[in-house]
Amino acid sequence: MKVSAGEIPYFDGHCDTVSRCARQGWTLDRSEGQLDLERLGRFQKAAQVFAIFAPAGWFPEGGLWDECRRQHEWFVSELEKNAGRAVPCRTGADIEAANAAGKTAALLSVEGGELLDCEPEKLETAASWGVKLVNVTWNYENALAGSNKEGPEKGLTDRGRAFAREAARLGIAMDVSHLSDPGFWDLAEMGLGPLVASHSNARAVCGHARNLTDDMFRAVRDSGGVAGFNLCADFIGGAAGLKDAARHIDHFLALGGEKTVALGGDWDGCQLGCGWTGVQDLPVLWDALAARGYGRPLLEDIFWGNWLRVLG
Ligand SMILES: [Zn+2]
Repeated sequence: MKVSAGEIPYFDGHCDTVSRCARQGWTLDRSEGQLDLERLGRFQKAAQVFAIFAPAGWFPEGGLWDECRRQHEWFVSELEKNAGRAVPCRTGADIEAANAAGKTAALLSVEGGELLDCEPEKLETAASWGVKLVNVTWNYENALAGSNKEGPEKGLTDRGRAFAREAARLGIAMDVSHLSDPGFWDLAEMGLGPLVASHSNARAVCGHARNLTDDMFRAVRDSGGVAGFNLCADFIGGAAGLKDAARHIDHFLALGGEKTVALGGDWDGCQLGCGWTGVQDLPVLWDALAARGYGRPLLEDIFWGNWLRVLG
């Protein structure tokens, strides 16, 4: 049995499409990358968290906040141009209304506190834009914490704690994908709300530091949070084929993750596994999981309901 995109819902927690399109001069409705509004529009209903993302090395000192604002402006203007296809959304009611109108729900995140100059005050601006998630770090350590690539032994700093508290006050979830292991546990201990790992897999299946240990996954589960399955070949591991991909989801489900596993494709931010070229290939994953005996209600939670519960 093969499902078509039109038969399945789609809610994904992470893509780097905004920065890639803006850099390449592409548009959001139809790009040469891995994801665009035309392809999202093929799903039964669709919601996508779009990350603002910029490696520090691309910009002169102090330029990240300007770049963050530029990408936000680009996102807003692209959505205005494509008002027939997508709607900026902040709440579950917004998402339902967008889908009822046959449009994609577009949500925002910021991948790395350095894009907000690691200043708690700038979270207020991010909240005014409707930002739902802020990654504590990207690949580099910053004034908030170490990442799992640089400064992996460094947990949350005092500023990191103040930043996380302010984010919680504003209704923004801190995203633990890319964060150092000690940083993860520092944040978990703060108990600020559901722990979100927008694009991370199972370290027990693929021993990459970007993936979650079983204990971390249980902490995410117990907090009522969510872990988005990442399609990056390096984080899937093995031959990065469909079977390898499914093993991560099997593993998370075996840890009691029915209400925790979701999608976090990392579209336009990585080399995709499974031989895929973009989001149009996702029904293949649904088929592969259905063939393993997963029923439609469970698949709907993974492909839709778990993100909606946390971000709606
Ligand atoms: Zn990332």
